Amino acid sequence: MYTDTNHNTPIHSLSLQLNENKFYIKRDDLLPVSFGGNKARKAILFFNDIENKNAGCIVTYGSSSSNHCRIIANIAVAKNMPCYIISPSETNVTTTNSKIIGVLNAVVIECPIDEVSQTIELQLSALKENGLRPYFIPGGGHGNIGTQSYVDAFKEILNYEASKGEFFDYIFHPSGTGTTQAGLICGNLLNACERKIIGISIARKMPYGSRVVLDSANSYLKSIDENPIENEKIDFVDDYILNGYGAYNKDILKTIKEVLILDGVPMDPTYTGKAFWGMKEFIINNEIKNKKILFIHTGGTPLFFDGLEELMND
Ligand SMILES: *Cc1c(COP(=O)(O)O)cnc(C)c1O
Repeated sequence: MYTDTNHNTPIHSLSLQLNENKFYIKRDDLLPVSFGGNKARKAILFFNDIENKNAGCIVTYGSSSSNHCRIIANIAVAKNMPCYIISPSETNVTTTNSKIIGVLNAVVIECPIDEVSQTIELQLSALKENGLRPYFIPGGGHGNIGTQSYVDAFKEILNYEASKGEFFDYIFHPSGTGTTQAGLICGNLLNACERKIIGISIARKMPYGSRVVLDSANSYLKSIDENPIENEKIDFVDDYILNGYGAYNKDILKTIKEVLILDGVPMDPTYTGKAFWGMKEFIINNEIKNKKILFIHTGGTPLFFDGLEELMND
């Protein structure tokens, strides 16, 4: 199983033509473990910590469509560690991710969404009592370890720029729990860079969404003895969430189809396709011209296959 922490995922240009900007994409979907993505980047660091702490099994949380749970289940089974996934019964539908998780022998424990934290606590204490040394990974790989993984990704971007003599004025990416954005913002700050990091929210609204990014960034900065940042430093855009998590429209499907046709890059309607569409709308609405723009492909390839039927019908 791949355990490198220095990934250098590919960065390449895209065919998109919009306002004389030049577009590039960083392919974190190509991280070479369990279909990659930002959850793979985070998980690799979590498993380093798990080994340092000599844990015996894993407990985590996520819905049946969770990319995070797929990757955790996969690395756990490779390391011979039992994996328990607490999953809310309300959103329980069969997806490509839930099927893969089924193949990987993870134990999925369903409960109503308002009993999730209680169920996690019960599971952890039962495992502890039996001497099984459980390790809890927050949903989505949230927390300082997850944030660190995108501070590292930011360094990869700087290395790319230095080697090619390029400079990205903007970095766009889908923002969910905010860990990815917090890491990129901290990387930007710690390397004294002046560039815009714009998280296109795929579900959360302001001000809550940006508050969580701010808290994650400041928790990380505190852990390395750096000064906290202010809310103004966070560009969390909630204009393109439509009706919330998983909601999409015809323009998003059209965008996904275009990127697939012109560049052979798969995107999904919940995360990357939605955020890529949101990025285009943002660029038009804010009249961004003649810039170099990097989009981070945060993965979710199994969701591309869940959405494929819709693309064919369109
Ligand atoms: C989880 C996820 C995100 C959101 O990342 P956060 O760090 O939670 O903001 C974006 N894209 C994909 C494909 C994801 O699975």
